Amino acid sequence: MIDCLFCKIATHAIPVKAVYEDDLTLVFPDINPQAPMHLLVIPKQHFADATQAPAELLGHVLKVAANLGERELAKGFRIVANTGQDGGQTVHHLHLHLLGGRRMTWPPG
Ligand code: 5GP
Ligand code: ZN
Repeated sequence: MIDCLFCKIATHAIPVKAVYEDDLTLVFPDINPQAPMHLLVIPKQHFADATQAPAELLGHVLKVAANLGERELAKGFRIVANTGQDGGQTVHHLHLHLLGGRRMTWPPG
């Protein structure tokens, strides 16, 4: 059994304010928001990153993020999957960042 922060959040062993939940995914606010709205979309099942997860699940978490963005952020939003060391991933349980509520810049840092 791996010791994983987001697995504990997924099972509600660590409580979070769930913004959305279904059988496969949980969405909750990032503890250190980088935009007025900054949500994390995670699969309940543990996969270290996007390279490890099956295509159907990746499609589902992406659709959940896009649906929330469409509902909550009419002016647009950004969906990010930091992956691996150079990608800036710090929590090694697949997650999508849904960011919005301000104008995003490009390129990202
Ligand atoms: P990464 O850097 O891996 O792409 O993103 C991990 C994200 O998880 C970071 O934005 C960080 O602020 C967030 N995070 C880390 N620990 C916690 C926590 O205990 N609760 C919540 N809600 N977010 C967390
Ligand atoms: Zn995990």
